[in-house]
Formats: sequence, C-alpha cells, structure tokens
Amino acid sequence: MVRTRIAPSPTGYLHIGTARTALFNFLFAKKHGGVFVLRIEDTDIERGDRAFEADIFESLDWLGIKADESPARGGEYGPYRQSERIGTYTPRLEQLLAEGKAYYCPHTEPELEAEKRTLMAAGKNPVHACEHRDGRVGEARLPDGQGIIRFKTPPGRTIIFGDLIRGEIRFESDLIGDFSIAKDLKTPLYNFAVTIDDHEMHISHVIRGEDHISNTPKQMLIAEALGLPQPAYAHLPLILGPDRAKLSKRHDAASIREFREQGYLPEALTNFMALLGWNPGTDRELFSIDELVEHFDLSKVQKSGAVFNIEKLDWMNGEYIRRKRTEELTAIVAERGYLSGFTASDTQGTLRLELPRLKKLSELA
Ligand code: GLU
Repeated sequence: MVRTRIAPSPTGYLHIGTARTALFNFLFAKKHGGVFVLRIEDTDIERGDRAFEADIFESLDWLGIKADESPARGGEYGPYRQSERIGTYTPRLEQLLAEGKAYYCPHTEPELEAEKRTLMAAGKNPVHACEHRDGRVGEARLPDGQGIIRFKTPPGRTIIFGDLIRGEIRFESDLIGDFSIAKDLKTPLYNFAVTIDDHEMHISHVIRGEDHISNTPKQMLIAEALGLPQPAYAHLPLILGPDRAKLSKRHDAASIREFREQGYLPEALTNFMALLGWNPGTDRELFSIDELVEHFDLSKVQKSGAVFNIEKLDWMNGEYIRRKRTEELTAIVAERGYLSGFTASDTQGTLRLELPRLKKLSELA
C-alpha cells in the first residue's frame, strides 16, 4: 500500500515549494491507489502558529490537493499534529538511551561553536567529539533545558540509499558525527520525530525537497537503531527563480495565498506546479488534476533545479480563465472583490470584453 505524506511546519503561509511537494506526494499516492497524509510538524518551533496551520489546510484545499488523513480529517494513525504525539517519542528516546545508542551531551552552543572553529582551523571535519559518548549507559541525565540528547552515530560506516529520482546516494557516517535528536525526553527534534512518525503512520514513500537529502542518512540510522523498516526516498529538485537562485520571498509571490489574491486560478497553479521538475515526455502542457494523476511518473522527475517561469504561469492562467463559464468567473471576481461596486451584469460585460487577453482576474480592475 502506497502511503505518502507532507509534514509542513506552520511557520508561515503555505509556500509554493511545499505546495509542489504536496502535489507530487498526492499524485504519486493517487496514481498507485494509495493514501496521502498531511501531518503538522509543530514540535520545537517557536514561530508555530495556528493561523499558519489554518492557511496550510485552506490553501491545499483550494488547490484541490486533498489529504486523506490530516489533523482536520483524522484517520487511523492520528493524531496528525506532532505536538499531540509527544507520548510516542519519549519511550523510543528512553530505549535508545538505555541501549547506549544515544547519550546526554551537556555542551553549550558556545562550547560547540569553539570546538567547531578549532577543528576547521586544523583542517578537520567539524563534528563534535563528546567525552560523554562512551560514558556509562543512562548516566548523566541532565536537568530539562540543559544540554541535549545525541545519537551515537556508528563510526566508519557508509550509508547508502537508492533515491527514486537521483539514484544511489552515499554518506560517510564519520562526516555526519553524533547528531542531536532531542532537547530532552519530551522535546524531540526534527530528525527523530519525523522517523518515528513516518514509521507509525506507515509511510511507504518519503517524497520531499532536495534540501532534506542530508537528513536522510540520519533518519535511516535512527530507524535502524530502533529496528524499524526503511521507507523509500525521493528528493525533488529545488525550485529556482529566474536568476537561478533558490526561489524565495525575493522572487515576488511565494505563498499560495498571494497567488490566489493576485487572481490565479487553482487549476492553473496546480498544473503549473506539476511541471516544476516533471514533464510527461511530450509537448502537452495543460492537464487537469485527474489527468495529472493519470500521467504522473516519479521516475520522470528531473534532478536539476526547476526554474519558475512566471510568464508560463500567466499564459496557463489565461487559458484556464477562458475555459471557465462566465458565471463561475463572475462569482470569483465578486468574492475576491476585483471589480468593487460592479453589478453581476457589468462584471459579465467586462469579462466578455477582456477575456481574450486576460491573464489574471485581478487585471480586470
Ligand atoms: N517539517 C519539514 C519541512 O517542512 C518536513 C521535512 C520532511 O518532509 O521530512 O521541511
């Protein structure tokens, strides 16, 4: 059974990059008769905000990327918010500590920084060598809020995985070093929590952005230490701005909410996002979401960065606008207030006049 997920942290409005990751997970799951899960990663975030969480739900819904299991819909493997799952992490942290596979590291940030600088100056790999690594098992439990729990990375290992997009990827464990997995027994950090959640939610395929590649060997080591099976991995190419730098706030609209406000239609955005890193191998560019499900193929996703071309999005949006019934467009224009004070019949008249050259509904004004 294919089960995919996205696990956004509610630290901002749904970003187009996360939405594209959601779309690819959704398409892959639906193509294989599987399930798409939305999980909210809200542990260890100071900026986490329920308003952002609501925006993530709303924006995905608007795009037509419907999660089968989520905090809003529930499901068999809930709860779907990490902050409500703390009870599932603690016993596994205790297990690793008891088995001597993790340890309490008391060092402070400034100490670790100083060690890193010294190692780098000596031309050595900047991984922390903790004198507590081989201390007595379970020893030196620290008061909460002090130090962290570190994973004991086995030395001299090569960690290999077959990425479904990028092929074989290797990491040397000596370059990874002992990484932190929790602030304390009740505050797991990303790599630990995600490994447990993916396992408990029976995630078969982890499809996410390329920026997470270096987390994969850590998550694989944690799973191995706990005796858990490994999911399959696929890392999607970055989305680049026209200047070929990673797409960011600098490049105008970046959140789905902004695109919506600017008068883009969800069908156009979904179609456009699907082509950010994937193509069907033909010249065809216009696909409904159902057609995307039919044609999508993860093995055809490109490795190199996908350039975000706003002219193409504008062209597509115009095409989708012209395919819609005037009544439907009139309703959207009224809801979004693009022609304030216009009656429905004035709006329809304006639409008829402008339709042939319209790219975004917001241009009507
Ligand atoms: N919370 C992480 C993010 O939003 C999840 C990464 C993952 O998919 O494992 O980037």
